[in-house]
Parts: sequence; structure tokens; C-alpha cells
Amino acid sequence: MQCELCGKEVSSPRYIVLDGVRMIVCEDCARHGRPAPPPAQKRITLPARKIDKDEKVFQSMKKVLVEDWSERIREARIRKGLSRQELGAKVGEPTVAIAKMENRDLRPSDETARKLEKVLGITLFEDVKEIHLPRSTSSGGITIGDLLKMEKQKDDRD
Ligand SMILES: [Zn+2]
Repeated sequence: MQCELCGKEVSSPRYIVLDGVRMIVCEDCARHGRPAPPPAQKRITLPARKIDKDEKVFQSMKKVLVEDWSERIREARIRKGLSRQELGAKVGEPTVAIAKMENRDLRPSDETARKLEKVLGITLFEDVKEIHLPRSTSSGGITIGDLLKMEKQKDDRD
């Protein structure tokens, strides 16, 4: 392969854009233009199966801590008549950690939050549906294909 600018034989060609023209040049001439991506020989496309898998992830429900988790912990603890030390002992957290959680300075781990739910009889998690849904399928869990199938089953019974 020859450099398109100086004609020198090049072993590892550089791809540049010079005055809007794509060129294959040698290392020395590469500085005359902007670097350009190599020609698209193999276009990488994701296999369809991979995309399906991602869609399922997007559609899954996520458990997240409720917005007012710190208030819920404090209020429930007081309602139960527990000290921070007592509550800490029940969920395996130091007193200072409970105090920090109630002040929102420390976010409980999922494990700790679940223990707090149990001990205090409160709910700290809520289901959040991923907002980013690819394509139009399944916002309500039913696709047009499902509807057609249901229609067909009804017909079969008649
Ligand atoms: Zn050159």
C-alpha cells in the first residue's frame, strides 16, 4: 500500500481526512489531516438474542429505597419504644450507624434495610419500573401477539 500523499510504501497505513477527503497515508503525512476511523469493513452488530435479553432487563422491576426511608426508620423505632442502641443490636448495626441512618447520613445496605423492615414492621423498599422501555412492547406486560393469542383461544372454545 502506498501513501496517497507522498507515495511512500506504508506498512501500517493511517486514515485521515484532508480537506474533506478521506486518505490513506503514511505516518509522516498523517499530521496533515484529521484522524479518521478506518474504513468500515466489519460492521459490528449485536445479535438479536442479545437485544432481547437487554429488553427483559429494562422491563424488570427494581426495588429501591423509599424516598423517606430515614424518617420511616426513626418514626417506627420511636413508635416501638426502642432506643437506637436496642434497634442497632436487633439488626446488627452499631448505635452510631442507626443514628446516621436516621439523619440520612448513612444509607442502609439492602441487607440492613430488610432487617429494619422486619424488626420495625415497616416498608423501606418500593417497586420502581424502569422508565426506559425499548420499543412499544410490554409497558403493561401484554403484547399485541398476546392479545391475538387470547382472541384465538376464545375462538377455539366456541
Ligand atoms: Zn506520506
